[in-house]
Amino acid sequence: MNSVSLKTPLSAVKGIGPKFLDKLEKIDIKTAGDLLWHFPVRYDDWSHVTDVKDLRPGEYAVIRAEVKKIGFRKSWIQKLAIVEAVLEDESGSVRTIWFGQPFIKKVLGEGKQAFFSGKVLAGKKGIFLSNPAYETVSDEENIDELFPKRELLAIYPETKGLTSKGIRFVINKVLPNLERIPDFIPGEILKKNGFPEINQALRDVHIPKSSAEANAAKERFAFEELFLLQLGHLLEKKRLARTKAPSIEFNLDFVKWALGELPYGLTFSQKRSLYEVLKDIERHQPMNRLLQGDVGSGKTVIALIAAMETAESGYQAVFMAPTEILASQHYQTFKKLFSDFGHPIGLMTAKSKLAFYGDNLESEMKKKDLLQEVENGRIKILIGTHALIAKSSGENKARFNNLGLIVVDEQHRFGVRQRAELVQNQARKSPGLTPHFLSMSATPIPRTLAITIFGDLDLSTIDELPQGRKPIITKVVDPLNRDKAYAFIRGEIRKGRQAFVVCPRIESREDDYEYDFSEDGKTDARKSGWSETKTVKKEYERLSKKVFPDLKVAMIHGKMKAEEKQKTMEDFKTRKSDILVSTSVIEVGVDIPNATIMMIEGAERFGLAQLYQFRGRVGRGEHQSFCVLFTESSNETTRQRLKALLEAKNGFELAEKDLEIRGPGALLGSEQTGLPDTTMRALRNPAMIKLGRQSAEEIIVKDPTLRSYPALKERLEKFKENIHLE
Ligand code: ADP
Ligand code: MG
Repeated sequence: MNSVSLKTPLSAVKGIGPKFLDKLEKIDIKTAGDLLWHFPVRYDDWSHVTDVKDLRPGEYAVIRAEVKKIGFRKSWIQKLAIVEAVLEDESGSVRTIWFGQPFIKKVLGEGKQAFFSGKVLAGKKGIFLSNPAYETVSDEENIDELFPKRELLAIYPETKGLTSKGIRFVINKVLPNLERIPDFIPGEILKKNGFPEINQALRDVHIPKSSAEANAAKERFAFEELFLLQLGHLLEKKRLARTKAPSIEFNLDFVKWALGELPYGLTFSQKRSLYEVLKDIERHQPMNRLLQGDVGSGKTVIALIAAMETAESGYQAVFMAPTEILASQHYQTFKKLFSDFGHPIGLMTAKSKLAFYGDNLESEMKKKDLLQEVENGRIKILIGTHALIAKSSGENKARFNNLGLIVVDEQHRFGVRQRAELVQNQARKSPGLTPHFLSMSATPIPRTLAITIFGDLDLSTIDELPQGRKPIITKVVDPLNRDKAYAFIRGEIRKGRQAFVVCPRIESREDDYEYDFSEDGKTDARKSGWSETKTVKKEYERLSKKVFPDLKVAMIHGKMKAEEKQKTMEDFKTRKSDILVSTSVIEVGVDIPNATIMMIEGAERFGLAQLYQFRGRVGRGEHQSFCVLFTESSNETTRQRLKALLEAKNGFELAEKDLEIRGPGALLGSEQTGLPDTTMRALRNPAMIKLGRQSAEEIIVKDPTLRSYPALKERLEKFKENIHLE
């Protein structure tokens, strides 16, 4: 017998064709282990068939029905193949729709009988089945043969060209031949919590005999992810605690001077956060801290003071921003606030290389010379983009003389590896010292979630805005009053203000689709959901030509080149345009005090935390600001959610709500956390988070090196690789 281990490449498993292998490889599944850790999102209960009349939106159901009508078309905007059909059983009829699977029209002709399994969604004209899986029944007698087992079928995350059926097929080639694998979760933990042992759990999660079995196995794997995640964090924390860092003296006189230079007093939360940071960098162990605070809560000044203290202590600091605009903004802020600082600072972006020596002495530099000034330690604080400082290579790499502090703005996950690189680069004067690390983020994350996802980081939180800011007047505008809203905006712009317009991106996600049969059986594209989605380009055209032909309208979106984006932002900042139409992707931190209007199209399509962030781009100056939300949805949940936005006191409160309503995946994209979807799903379960953490702590107390848990150690390495923590 050909036995399979977790490391066996799928290409070595009998019966899996090259086509499958290709498709699997596209989603990073190469070995048997990769495959077996690709978990189902749910199970279809084919033993239970629902009558069409009993279908309820939001549920998954299996129906048995006849295809009454079926049609094919290309979607209006995205040219995506869409197959639509009307299905009927004795109790009634229901519409269904498939995206990107044109062949279905051929497989399922009118009059065909089949089982359909999928999610029921509510559309404008009633409910419909979205992208259902199907099994045709060519002939009545065949039913029992087709479904003899009355079983639960695992449904996997949908991936291009790889159906759940396909994955089940491959799993059936692997699982029966899998050699017994050792369980890496320590036996005592399994036992204490009644989790199934790994070999059993793998079978039960992929080929369950009952939902009880499937659930127990899923619990185990959810636990596993949270346990590994937190174990990884705790070990990283321990490792850092053993590392040495330069101690940055808490220089009270200096801090007083810096605060005296500010045209304002710090808020209580700012003071607390500053204190936490300064106390932390005074220690001989590296700080590893996340500073969270709403847009506009004043995080920058905290980081700048910490950077200056670092310089005062004789070390260098580096301040990295995600974009050139933000990097320049920070540099300008520094020059404005602390021109008497006395130590040279530098700015390094693709466009600008500047050194500021105080007293209005600023010089443009060649990159080489600027790097030289950093390397010889003359420049004490270097501000720049992540890309330039951390990622450039060879000659172009920023080398420091004695780096004491790394600040990273607006990025949750600055990799351990990236940090290690910077650390290596600074080994000249103070070898063996690890710089302190401060990460800043405007995405509010509820505390419980934050300490799980970023468990290796300590948290400082700014949960208030500076005094004297006028609250932003926020209104949900009925589509009927759109013209009035535009008239109001024109008025504000005439007064000299500027406006942002944010549009949802076009997304081809099935749930976004509002589907609509007109009488002749064809879908009216103009009425369908996608046409309601204000795409940036269309909205730009409409606003610039029809609504505000008298004003200067500009547009920015993710597909533009970096320089184009930069130019557009700068033009907006310098008031060369009045209205900036953008997607949700434009940077959060940009400070444009003169922009007082935030108009959001398709507000129902954004998460609460996201809406909150958009709104935070206005209200930064002296003038009264407004947030205008347009929504086409009259849906009750939408109303509730938008109401929450109107009432919330701060972003953290909203994040809690969003977490409740939509789960961590919606709150934080996987790009931000680097965590796979399965882990994000597991994060919905607070009890499991706690159990994972407790268990991780237990193991570390017993054996901090994991020497007596070799299988766990190995699995943890693999896990870390997968979540890109490094
Ligand atoms: P963010 O936390 O979003 O990075 P910034 O640091 O960019 O916020 O601060 C937003 C604006 O608020 C800046 O113009 C800054 O000068 C100002 N600011 C910061 N702290 C205070 C304060 N305590 N009082 C008044 N204005 C402040
Ligand atoms: Mg900021």
